[in-house]
Amino acid sequence: MQGTKLEPKIYDFSRVTGISQKTLDIHYNKLYKGYVAKANEIHDKLHVYGTGGGDIETVNPTFHDLRSLRDAETFAVNAVYLHEHYFDALGGDGVPGGALKKAIEEKWESYENFERYFKASCLVARGWLVLSYDCQAEKIKIYMADVHNQGAVWGAEPILVCDCYEHAYFIDYGSDRKAYINDFFKNLNWNVLNKKFQEAMGE
Ligand code: FE
Repeated sequence: MQGTKLEPKIYDFSRVTGISQKTLDIHYNKLYKGYVAKANEIHDKLHVYGTGGGDIETVNPTFHDLRSLRDAETFAVNAVYLHEHYFDALGGDGVPGGALKKAIEEKWESYENFERYFKASCLVARGWLVLSYDCQAEKIKIYMADVHNQGAVWGAEPILVCDCYEHAYFIDYGSDRKAYINDFFKNLNWNVLNKKFQEAMGE
């Protein structure tokens, strides 16, 4: 028994505009599926330690296989989850609405304020920009993660996730990340985002 393995989610990117099919193909098939495969490989190796195998007598915080696996696990699993949130939200008409829009307007006084602020935050990120529902604070919060497993806040459920790494846009936009972020917003599916918001709030 190896426990539950991650399976790649299936996506239809045919309605996405601006961001090319070539970029999405590489992003999904090479990068995302690569993270899924590595997460499963790490899982199997940790499972050996967790079920009585592996050398745990020599564990050490400077270097040990168990340490490397522990570190790699959060890197790979967060990469899978964050990419899924990113891909989930693509393919919509980009028209904001629903309870999430209302919560955004309450917090940042207008939707336009939020969009400007979120986009600017994307431009300072080196990895991920995440609008989340922080279950501790019981409110929506924007958090930045420069690396898959750094910057995440436990208990904050991702809702709107933007991949700000260059692989997400360089083929199509060169260094113009701003144009990519603008197109990203034009592709957002607000039904999906509102569903994530409701689920994060436990509704
Ligand atoms: Fe990515």
